[in-house]
Amino acid sequence: MKRRELLRGAGLAAVATGLAACGAAPGDGAGPTASTERLQWKMVTSWPTNFPGLGTGAAKLAEMITATSGGRLTVKVYGAGELVPAFEVFDAVGRGTAEMGHSAAYYWKGKSAAAPFFCAVPFGLNAQEMNGWLYQGGGLELWRELYARFGLVPFPAGNTGVQLAGWFRKPVASIADLKGLKMRIPGLGGEVMSRVGATPVNLPGAEIFSSLQTGAIDAAEWVGPYNDLAFGLHRAAKFCYYPGWQEPGPTLECMVNQAAWEKLPQDLKDIVDACCRAVNDSMLAEYTARNQQALDALVREHGVELRQLPDDVLLALRRASDKVLEDVVGEDLFARKVLESMRAFQAQARAWHAVSEEAYYATRG
Ligand code: CA
Repeated sequence: MKRRELLRGAGLAAVATGLAACGAAPGDGAGPTASTERLQWKMVTSWPTNFPGLGTGAAKLAEMITATSGGRLTVKVYGAGELVPAFEVFDAVGRGTAEMGHSAAYYWKGKSAAAPFFCAVPFGLNAQEMNGWLYQGGGLELWRELYARFGLVPFPAGNTGVQLAGWFRKPVASIADLKGLKMRIPGLGGEVMSRVGATPVNLPGAEIFSSLQTGAIDAAEWVGPYNDLAFGLHRAAKFCYYPGWQEPGPTLECMVNQAAWEKLPQDLKDIVDACCRAVNDSMLAEYTARNQQALDALVREHGVELRQLPDDVLLALRRASDKVLEDVVGEDLFARKVLESMRAFQAQARAWHAVSEEAYYATRG
């Protein structure tokens, strides 16, 4: 019995050695070649566990990497606050507390003024255009250049599409109604709101409802009907405004610790990249499919007042956005480089979309 076990153990060891030898590139002793090595990674996120779209997107990414690698790279997901708080994901992955994170780049404007450009720019690119810029227009190269400073490798890994402008306890009839308003709104959108006299605050998603309900804040933007209904924001504020000028197609990110990334064999790197691309795509499909169902429920079942922001309010926000962007790139050379790349892409996308998407929407009616 003992002898049989010994033999079996020796056989497995021989197979493992053989596989490792096969995986090793000739003359590449230092390279990451241990293709039979089984790795276990942690993924920290800025979302509640399995929160619709964002949290389920992170979970899907982890499951997909684990399954498609045949268990060679197992990823375990931690919701916001389980291992680190929502807004410490960037630092936690940078220092290697977790090998991977799922979040949004605009939460890291305190690390770099250029970071928010890789998530959302007010009145900027929509989801389709963000993907075009990131994958084909030089955006991802710039993002990787920036995050390399922090020991991170970023990947686009989700998009919500155009968001809502937010939830307000009182109607917004003019720009004067935004003055003195305390609003949960992160990223560059928050900077814009401060220019028109509001006080932006940044809160993790899970804290929005209670802050709005108790009146600690007067307004909040989160995502869109699918997610806002899940948090019950309609029970804390009656007026729901559109369109989401502040986030016209925010890219969610997967970030990987640089040292952990470099240790991966090439096929696992390819798997992580492919899974991020798949989730980047499937999350947008989920929002596209679910948002209107949720909006119907909000308006018909919950009596929400759905309103468009007045034209003069949107115009004032747009002018303030231009000023914010000028100021941001005036103080940060890399941010200027990123904005110039993005603006060149936006001009191109706008021209093409005038005769494609926009013309088609107008024709379809
Ligand atoms: Ca948002």
